[in-house]
Amino acid sequence: MILLDRVTKIYNKNLGPALDRVSLHVEPKEFVVIIGQSGSGKTTLLKLLTREERPTSGKIIVGGIDYDKLRDRDIPLLRRKVGTVFQDFKLLPNRTVFENVAFALEIVGVGGREIKNTVPKVLDIVNLKSQADHMPQELSGGERQRVAIARAIVRQPKILIADEPTGNLDPKHAWDVIRVLEKINHYGTTVLLTTHNQEIVNKLKRRVVTIEHGHVGSDRASAQYDVKN
Ligand code: ADP
Ligand code: MG
Repeated sequence: MILLDRVTKIYNKNLGPALDRVSLHVEPKEFVVIIGQSGSGKTTLLKLLTREERPTSGKIIVGGIDYDKLRDRDIPLLRRKVGTVFQDFKLLPNRTVFENVAFALEIVGVGGREIKNTVPKVLDIVNLKSQADHMPQELSGGERQRVAIARAIVRQPKILIADEPTGNLDPKHAWDVIRVLEKINHYGTTVLLTTHNQEIVNKLKRRVVTIEHGHVGSDRASAQYDVKN
């Protein structure tokens, strides 16, 4: 469960708040699409959840972790619960697809046998099993993003945060990425997705939270979409 209670984020006192008393409740296994104009506060919201930024005021609880009580030594636990994917894929250019995903396990001390066992399964989920030995530069943008998703989910996070993961992709590759996010959600992971792509928003038929100037402008359940369309 994700809970934000009247969360405000002020980066600069001379400017308005980036987020202003935002309250949001996301149930386990939900798929939530977050939309809003550039600068409305979407990335800030996600960065508060990953603890890249801290709120100026308000309460955040993610998967039972109260962020007010979070100590530095709890951060690895949080990283395990919350996987992240960004617009720019941030892959290691000199490592293969397999090695990019394996790296996420190596850095937390997972052994070679488990890595050999786990990585192909995850590459299968993102439909990249046959490209395991390819280098990132040999892949399309959509394939690169799916490597980044594989890396984000290889430790089985409860929550996957994807900040404009299709921002650099053409429509076909964007849909390949969205389908993979749906599959991961179907397996039980909560997904928070930000996007500018209206077609994706309309076709996904999921809960849509609109951020407007740091406020929650609207919060529309997926069922309401069926009525409209
Ligand atoms: P979005 O992702 O919806 O485009 P952001 O969360 O990135 O919006 O930005 C919201 C507001 O906060 C913008 O006005 C932006 O300029 C400001 N902002 C974002 N990050 C920082 C930062 N690190 N320092 C100062 N201001 C920031
Ligand atoms: Mg953003």
